[in-house]
Amino acid sequence: MNLDQIEKARKQAIELYKQSKIFFTKEELENIAVIDLSLGDFYNIGVTLVTYVDTDRVGARELAILPRQTVPQHMHPNLEGGIKGKEETFRCRWGELYLYVDGPKTDNIKAKIPEKYQGKSTVFHEIVLKPGDQHTLEPGMWHWFQAGDEGAVVSEFTSKAYDDKDVFYDRSLTPVSK
Ligand code: ZN
Repeated sequence: MNLDQIEKARKQAIELYKQSKIFFTKEELENIAVIDLSLGDFYNIGVTLVTYVDTDRVGARELAILPRQTVPQHMHPNLEGGIKGKEETFRCRWGELYLYVDGPKTDNIKAKIPEKYQGKSTVFHEIVLKPGDQHTLEPGMWHWFQAGDEGAVVSEFTSKAYDDKDVFYDRSLTPVSK
């Protein structure tokens, strides 16, 4: 994404953050991470976020997910040497998030998958997160999510993130490198 596109995405993320009434510093808002997983299709596949904490032990981020934006199916695998993969809790702060995990397939899921991205997910057990709802994922569990029509602000609380080790079901996607 070029700088203009990144700035535009940041402005849209800021509008969502305002809805959540969560306070961010000027520096945080100037440095919102804009992630498109190298697909160049940010408004379908992507996410924006502010990182609060990223240490050797824990991570915490505030995601701003634009309307109908999707983070495609991935997992946080256990690593060599007995290192546990990332455990991840999502808590919705504003809007609606449709989270999909392994389990009985939900009929008529709320997520709308653009035609070109159909067939890129295998888990369809739907968990709807509204403000105050949260869900925890263990390492190695496939998951993907999409924001509702108005977008969503979602807190992510995790053990240590190894973003570059994330496994995407669609192997053409590039994990986020640090
Ligand atoms: Zn994840």
